[in-house]
Formats: sequence, structure tokens, C-alpha cells
Amino acid sequence: MNGYKNTQAGTKAAKSCREQRKDSDNYPENENSRTNLLNRLYDEAAGDPRIFWENRATELLSCSRRWDTVVEGDFATGGLRWFSGAELNASVNCLDRHLQNGRGKKAALIWQGENESDATVFTYEMLHREVCRFANVLKKKGVAKGDCVSLYLPMVPELVVAILACARIGAIHNVVFSGFSSVSLQARLHQCKSKILITADAVNRAGRALPLKANADEALDDCPDIKSCVVVRCSKREVQMVPDRDSWFHEEMASPDIGDQCPAEEMAADDTLFILYTSGATGRPKAVAHSTAGYLLYVMYTCKVVFDLKEDELFWCTADIAWITGHSYSVYGVLGLGGTSLIYEGIPLYPDPGRYWSIVEKYKVNIIYTAPTVIRALMKFGTAPVEKYDLSSLRLLGSVGEPINAEAWRWYHDIIGKKKLRIADTWWQTETGGVMISPLVASPPEKAGAAAHPLPGISAMVVDELGQQVERGRPGRLVITSPWPGMFKEILRARKKTDRRGGAVTSTGYDTGDGARKDQDGYYWITGRVDDVINVSGHRLGTVEIESALLTHKSVAEAAVVGIPHSLKGQAVYAYVILKSSFEQSGELLEELRDHVRAMIGPVATPDVIQYAEMLPKTRSGKIMRRVLKKIAADEYEHIGDVTALADPSLIVDLVEGKKKH
Ligand code: ATP
Ligand code: MG
Repeated sequence: MNGYKNTQAGTKAAKSCREQRKDSDNYPENENSRTNLLNRLYDEAAGDPRIFWENRATELLSCSRRWDTVVEGDFATGGLRWFSGAELNASVNCLDRHLQNGRGKKAALIWQGENESDATVFTYEMLHREVCRFANVLKKKGVAKGDCVSLYLPMVPELVVAILACARIGAIHNVVFSGFSSVSLQARLHQCKSKILITADAVNRAGRALPLKANADEALDDCPDIKSCVVVRCSKREVQMVPDRDSWFHEEMASPDIGDQCPAEEMAADDTLFILYTSGATGRPKAVAHSTAGYLLYVMYTCKVVFDLKEDELFWCTADIAWITGHSYSVYGVLGLGGTSLIYEGIPLYPDPGRYWSIVEKYKVNIIYTAPTVIRALMKFGTAPVEKYDLSSLRLLGSVGEPINAEAWRWYHDIIGKKKLRIADTWWQTETGGVMISPLVASPPEKAGAAAHPLPGISAMVVDELGQQVERGRPGRLVITSPWPGMFKEILRARKKTDRRGGAVTSTGYDTGDGARKDQDGYYWITGRVDDVINVSGHRLGTVEIESALLTHKSVAEAAVVGIPHSLKGQAVYAYVILKSSFEQSGELLEELRDHVRAMIGPVATPDVIQYAEMLPKTRSGKIMRRVLKKIAADEYEHIGDVTALADPSLIVDLVEGKKKH
């Protein structure tokens, strides 16, 4: 068993975590004071952005040396740099300063294993100790400031410990999702030139222990640079340990020469805190690097302004820490603010579709932050699995990763939020570091499916292909027009790219690669990826709108829409549809679905083809890979593209078979 498992039984852990949460609060209490705070922030941001961000940094960051300048450079000339001259350490900001502020006994991290009785609570003191110890282990293994450490771990507390230990000694962490194959892992190890890998024996999934160390071994066969591999014990699975290279995490941590204290490395503001790969929805996953001061400030700021995280609240971000959402809102944002973060090892459907809600009840979770793909998966099971649990502790519901279609929004709002809770539908990207656009207050009323408003300090614009702002109501490309501290380092260097799928810097700003529309009330709606826009007879249609229309039909569980070449119209709409289990595939139903889209949007959006599917190709983070569906719809089976990020490559064969029937 791993070193942390079963140190406390689940219910005891839940009880103690509630007791350990500190009961003071210096955040606004009600909607009025929150609106006032936001108005103040918007007013301030309308002035000099340097002063705005300087004030946020003064409020939120602990630096051992203060910055000389807030931001240098701009989009047009490049060379953007935040908080030059500052020195700080991210692990000190997430741990040490909370010990000094009386939060030592407060729960920092709650871990719930897939197995109900596997649960552990780490107070700030305990987490600090574990982080220092593992930082000392890394140093003993020869890791120094600036080195890259790769982490290939499931959702266990050792992952958080290892991340913060890297930050402590100034090593750059590179977290690789534990669901990736040895091939994907190997490519990422080569690219970042790691000398050390931290992994686990196995991943616990749906009651089984799936091998992980064996994958790592395969990847390491051709990684001569990796000199050490530290293995976390998560199961009883037998593993091969390679002498002189492999060692157990718990044995390293228990070694008598490993101390409880580890001085933190002073890092320059612009030093790289971590690298991380994007999801790979639109192409090969891209490595993104984030800076220390700008990133840390931005995730703390957004955690406060979007979620209004209060001192005694429990925040549960359900994303795997291997994605940016987990980095920003399971680790750095919540711990930077001195909050309590819950992480869960397993999947939402195990042992049954009520698992998430049982965790909410057990720990009295206040804020849950999840993805539309999870909501859609749980909706299929109806309300019974939800009704068994008391969800009254919930105060706010978050969503991220994809546009949330209106049906899923309603279910989340009505069934989970009991029609009372606000939904923060947060739009952002790996590249942006933290949330950029989100509904922030309940009034004026949220619009189901709108990402709503840029945060105070963030300026956005919807532009056409020539970079000119489009009128309200018309779709275009979403561009961020002024620099923000969470921007990834490649933008900081302002390297112009010909690749237009996002991440491109123009003199107008940062082109996100996403399509958006700003409505007459000033709300932003994300319409999907710009590359996915379908142009039917000159009408530009976002994939999201047509998919949302299909999803309002009673028979449809999931839908994905792509454009295919059409000799007259330029492009035609091709839809893939997964039916709910109680519906039968039939020709009549296809006609009905076509009529449904026609009635909801208009004749121009009517799909030329609707193909029934059993599954849709998704990235490991649960996003639909429309580029794969587009190739299949266009009969371009030979050029499917990079599918390393695809969760289940075998389903392509089924989709191709299905296509051939049309
Ligand atoms: P890749 O960049 O490799 O194609 P990816 O863009 O899916 O993958 P991420 O950085 O994880 O990788 O995801 C960011 C993207 O997710 C955004 O650009 C946007 O398309 C989508 N997204 C995230 N949150 C939302 C949201 N609330 N509404 C709409 N779209 C969202
Ligand atoms: Mg992207």
C-alpha cells in the first residue's frame, strides 16, 4: 500500500477535515458586496492595467524581492515579461506563508481514493513536511534548479507533493496524464529532456489495478537520459524494479538522511514553473510553459474572483491534475489562497453514477468544478443517483473544457444546483493559465451556455479574418487584446506563428483559435474552434449551435457536427449522433432529427447527413476530436492525423464502418 493510504478511514477523514477548516472569513458575504467588489475591480482595471495588476500582486503574492516593473513589452513589439526583478518561490506561496498565518492545522489537501475507505487529509503542516522531504529526495537524486522532472502519476496525493517539491527546488515539472500510453510518455520525456521520472506501480480504475510502471518501463527502454525512476505504491500489483534506476517513493521518503526542512530556491519571476501539454483536440498536443510569478498570481486571482473561494470552504476540481485545470485549481490557485482542495482518484461512474454526489455529501463540498462531458455522462442516468445524497453544502457550480450545451447547463443548474446555484461556465485554455471569461455574479441573470464576461483586467474582442472587430451578434475569432499575467511563455516571447489553431500572436493581441459571438447585452458566447466553423452557402455556422440543437431532442445523448465539402454550398453539415439507450436507430428518427435542427436554427443548418454512432472520438481530457470526425465524414481515412491524444483509437474503425453504410 502506498505511504499515505489508510492513514485515516474515510469518515474520520471527512470529519476531521471539517474541524480543521479555519473559521474566519475576509471575503464578501453576499451577492451585493460581491457585486460591489467586482465593480470596484472593473473600475480599477479600466484605469492603468499596470496599477491594477500591481495591486493584485501586492495583495496576493509573497515575494522575497519585490518586482522592479509590472510588465514590460507589448503584443506588437514582443518581449513581454511580468514582474521583472521579483524573486519568489511558488511552494512558499502555497505552503510556508500559510504556516506563518496560522493555517498550519487547517486541511490543505483531502484525498479520496477510488476505494471508499482510502482517504487522507493533509494539513498545511503535513503537506509542507512531505513536500520538503520529497524536495530533499529529488536533490539527493541530483535534481537541480532548472532541471525538468516528469511526473506520470494517477490522482494520488504524491502527485501534489511531487509538484510542490519540484517548485520548491526550482525544478520544472512536466506532468503526463497517467492514461497515456508508453509511446506518448516517451515522446514527452524526449522533448523535455528529463533525467528523472516519478511514476506509480498501477492506476486504480473501476475496481481494477491497471499497470502503470510497466508502461513507464516500455517508455524508458529508449530514454537513456532518465537515470532515476521513483515509484509510488498504489496497489498490490507486482512490478519489475530496475536496479540502480528504480526505487520506491515511500522508502526514499523514510530514509534517515531525508530531513523535514528544505530551503526554498529563490526563483526569478519569469523562471519556468512547469511545462504542460494541451489536450490535442485540434492537432498534436502542444507543450506550453508557464512562468512563476505571473502564473501563480493569475491562478490565485481567478480562484478568488471567479469562485469567490472563502476561508472555510472546500473546493473540488474534478479534472485530472495532468490537465491545466488541475494544475491551476486543484493545486496552485486553491493552495496559494490557503484554501482546502479535494482530489479524487477514481471515475464518476464507479461504483455507480452517484459517486460524485456521495463525495459532495461526505465532505460537504462547497464548490465543484467539472466538465460538460462529465455532466452529459451523468445525465444519462437520470436524477435517481443524485437524489440519494444531500447536496446542500454546494454553493457554486463550475464548468470548463468545452462549451456547455443548454441541456447540460439546465440539468446541472436544476438537478445539482436545485435551481438556486450559479454556474461559472469558465472559458480558458492551457495557454491562458487561468480563467479568462466567466459569469461572475447571479445578476444580471446568467444565460444558459454563455461564457459571459471577461474578468476584470482581461480585454477581449471578436474579430473577422482581417482582424477587424465585428458587430455585436456576429460570429468571429476571439482575441485577447491586452497582456495578462497568466499568459504562457511562448506568448511572452511573442513568437509569431503561421499555425492558426490558437496561440498566435498578432499586433491586435493573442488569437485564441476559438470562435465567439458577443450578443447585444455584451455576453460572450463561445461557438467552437474557428477551424471547425462550417461555411454553408456563405453562412458561418458554429459547431456548438448545431450540436446544442440536436441535444435538445429527447432521443440524443451526444452529438458532434463537422463540415464536409459540397459542390454547390461550399460545405454541408455532417452530424454524428449517439442515441439514449431507450431509443432505436431508424430512418424516421433521422428525418425527425433533421427537421428538429431546421426548426431550431433554420434550413441552412440542416444536416445533410446524420450518422448514428456508439461512441465519439475524444481526447483523454474528454473533448470531442472533430478533426478526426471530419476526416471520416470526408472519406479521408488514410489521413486521420495525430491520434496520440485519442482515448480509444479502436473506435475509428467502427465509425468508418458506420460511414460506409451512408
Ligand atoms: P489543443 O490546443 O491541443 O487542440 P485543447 O485546445 O482542447 O487542445 P486545452 O487547452 O485543454 O486544449 O483546452 C482549451 C480549449 O477548450 C479552448 O480553446 C476552448 O476551445 C475549449 N474550452 C474550454 N473551456 C471552455 C468553455 N467554458 N466554453 C467553451 N469552450 C471551452
Ligand atoms: Mg487549444
